[in-house]
Amino acid sequence: MDNHYRKILNPISLDQVEVRVLQLLRHRPFFSRADIVDATGLSRARVSQVLTVLHRNNLIAPCKTGESTGGRPPMLFSFNKQARYVIGMDFGATACRIGITNLAGEPLSLREEALDIKLGPELVLSQALTTVRDFLRQQEIRHDSILGIGVGVPGPVEFLTGRPISPPIMPGWDGCQVAEFFRKDFACPVFVDNDVNVMALGEQWAGAGQGVDNFIFIKIGTGIGAGLICNGHIYRGAQGCAGDVGHIMADASGPRCNCGNVGCLEAVAAAPAMVRQATAAAQEGRSAMLADLLASRGHLAAVDVGRAAVEGDQSAMDIIRHSGRLIGQVLAGVVNFFNPSLIVIGGGVSRVGHLLLATIRETVYSRSLSLSTGSLSIATSALGNQAGVIGCSMMAIEETLASSAITHERLSTILVRNGGEG
Ligand SMILES: [Zn+2]
Repeated sequence: MDNHYRKILNPISLDQVEVRVLQLLRHRPFFSRADIVDATGLSRARVSQVLTVLHRNNLIAPCKTGESTGGRPPMLFSFNKQARYVIGMDFGATACRIGITNLAGEPLSLREEALDIKLGPELVLSQALTTVRDFLRQQEIRHDSILGIGVGVPGPVEFLTGRPISPPIMPGWDGCQVAEFFRKDFACPVFVDNDVNVMALGEQWAGAGQGVDNFIFIKIGTGIGAGLICNGHIYRGAQGCAGDVGHIMADASGPRCNCGNVGCLEAVAAAPAMVRQATAAAQEGRSAMLADLLASRGHLAAVDVGRAAVEGDQSAMDIIRHSGRLIGQVLAGVVNFFNPSLIVIGGGVSRVGHLLLATIRETVYSRSLSLSTGSLSIATSALGNQAGVIGCSMMAIEETLASSAITHERLSTILVRNGGEG
């Protein structure tokens, strides 16, 4: 961890108390000195000191005066969400979404580009950087007003070093120094995580998971993965691969998975498995509708299965129910283990229609303990394909503030120690 934080150049330097107060203020429309004293238990003098530092960093601004309780009406402040900007880059298998947001995670510019992750880091990151430079020029944003950069990639990431580790669908990216690439242009911290974790953060901040402390975001697309929000924070586990539910065995007689094991959930229930079953149904004469779609285009996609199911095609409905039951079985185990109050379902396959969600719901509710499901909701993603880029921005803000506090404390300790020795 030491090496990681030493490499970070912080454009802001706040101590732990200042970060704690700022985190509080980010969630309020406006506040007075007395509000902060009440919420933190800090002395009035310490609160005044903290507000001065935050004001000097342009992170808060006086907005108006409040109601008088007899004496002079108190000055009210608000969090200045335009004080800095954040870059979010959400890389998928075949597309990348890039955005510039303010400190509230609200996008100022957002673009989706076709970009094949298999082209390798040099080409993919260079193209993304070109888009970022365009955005900054258009918005007239200087490089030194970027607080941090958040990057999501479709594979396992060792979070502390920001390096993808043996990512199955990202050839050439193993151990790649993604953060270093952007440090040539930006002096701010860069954080890298897997795509599902950043989507969970996006939903927590601005989507279906707002105000929910314990929830699971599950992405169903070419693969299947989950992001866990535990006690209000993302839970990454010891190595950063918590939530990899796609490689839990769902069918012992299933096909071999990309990871080398047999019968993993994603090998039997994600988009490629649905397409495989749909193609077989079309070729074996079990579905005239899927056969027509296959004949007209030469291949099928998961959305075709959804479309055929909505039209009442029995084979398509069976395929979706089959995936829904397998996903539901694994989620039921996760629910018994983790006891979330919400499961948010996102990713491309989540848009095949209501039948998938209904089957997952039915299976989870019938297979989990009733105490776990008593207050459990299962909903679809509220942000759709924007969840990742908003989540990347939120990750960059949270982690930059946290690392600022840690670096600040460490620098103070070093200064005090050197002072003592001198
Ligand atoms: Zn697997």
